[in-house]
Amino acid sequence: MSAFDPAKLAADVEAFCTELRPLEELCYVEHKYNDQLPVLAKKHNLLGMNVLPEYGGRGADAVSYFRGLARIGREGTGPRTFFSGHLSIGAYPIQTWGSDALRRKYLPAACRGEQVLAFGLTEPDAGSNPREMTSTYEKKGDYYLLNGVKYLISNGSVANAVVVFAYPRDTSKARRISAFVVDTASAGFVAETLTAKMGMPTSNTAMFEMTDVRVPAENLLGAEGEGFRIAMGTLVSGRLSVAAGCLGVIEDCLTEVIEYSKLRSQHGKPIAKHQLVQDHIAHIEVGRIASDALLIRAAEAKEQSTINPGDAALAAAADGLAARAKFFITNAAWDAADRAVQVFGGRGWSTLYRPGRHLMDVRVCRIYEGTDEILKLKIAANVLGKEYEAFS
Ligand SMILES: Cc1cc2nc3c(=O)[nH]c(=O)nc-3n(C[C@H](O)[C@H](O)[C@H](O)COP(=O)(O)OP(=O)(O)OC[C@H]3O[C@@H](n4cnc5c(N)ncnc54)[C@H](O)[C@@H]3O)c2cc1C
Repeated sequence: MSAFDPAKLAADVEAFCTELRPLEELCYVEHKYNDQLPVLAKKHNLLGMNVLPEYGGRGADAVSYFRGLARIGREGTGPRTFFSGHLSIGAYPIQTWGSDALRRKYLPAACRGEQVLAFGLTEPDAGSNPREMTSTYEKKGDYYLLNGVKYLISNGSVANAVVVFAYPRDTSKARRISAFVVDTASAGFVAETLTAKMGMPTSNTAMFEMTDVRVPAENLLGAEGEGFRIAMGTLVSGRLSVAAGCLGVIEDCLTEVIEYSKLRSQHGKPIAKHQLVQDHIAHIEVGRIASDALLIRAAEAKEQSTINPGDAALAAAADGLAARAKFFITNAAWDAADRAVQVFGGRGWSTLYRPGRHLMDVRVCRIYEGTDEILKLKIAANVLGKEYEAFS
């Protein structure tokens, strides 16, 4: 087994992005899911970037992995969202809380591109507060029966397996959420693609319903009742991957405005020489460099917590920094895309150009994996103290 090589991963991600761009742009204007993305990702060995080598992955450390996602984020929030669903919130909980047998059952196939993964926490009536979910499970000998509806799930109708959360159906049991890996080919599992979206037409978002879906007992993640902890732990990884992708969006917006503002002339000179255009460029650049620094600090904290799994202080630091990074960088990306649209003028408002696509796509990053509001409450409670938590 060879040691992880960060330079090789970066080179493979670059080659993947170069090949992806024309396909992604075509799918975007045609408003269709980019089914070539997993094929290319497999070709460049990116489907197990953060998975341990013993389970078929490349074993990237957190900084290298999130740098890779930042580069993919330049190609768009849609492509990065595929990787978030498959790896950051799909493979990650299986690797972190799954038994060795469960890891072997899903992770090597996921790394080889034979299984796409997803994460199903949100329900129609349970978003910011997952504790309000109504999905249930019932133990029946050597399997569980799952029932319920999961909503707005990335990769939800292209995935082969989904990490799903549910309460015990037996109301005499303690009301504690458990987590399961559910095969989407199971009888009673029906998914529907959601297409009425403001952006990310090339990525898959779906809902699914489970009606008496049989899940083998060994597909329980962690112990019964540990599901909420697993979901929250997974969101640290998910939030960092959103933040990383948004750094890529800012980087791409900067590249685009530099090139365009030098080429486009109005009032007798390149618009890059107009001071108010430079104001936009300066804001994007400062957002980029601040986001980069915060992402790396948060990724390093995540790495420390991963290599010291029992250390509660390191876990809390990683959790707090992931919230800060996600809140700050997603807003910086929204601002950068808005400014890039402005610099492009009328062309900026077209999905034929990159800034307009980034603007539409990146908006969701302030919603999924923890809304702005939920993250602000979390960050404020972090600095004020636990007794000031606005909700529990
Ligand atoms: C494209 C897309 C992909 C997604 N992918 C996934 C996925 O892969 N897996 C998954 O499980 N989910 C996924 N989601 C769901 C996403 O995580 C939720 O949409 C998000 O958590 C918000 O939940 P909600 O939409 O139910 O909004 P709500 O929770 O109903 O919130 C509505 C508004 O109320 C605010 N609010 C709620 N509670 C409070 C409070 N206590 N204080 C202040 N304000 C509050 C929110 O911030 C928000 O502004 C995805 C969503 C989208 C749009």
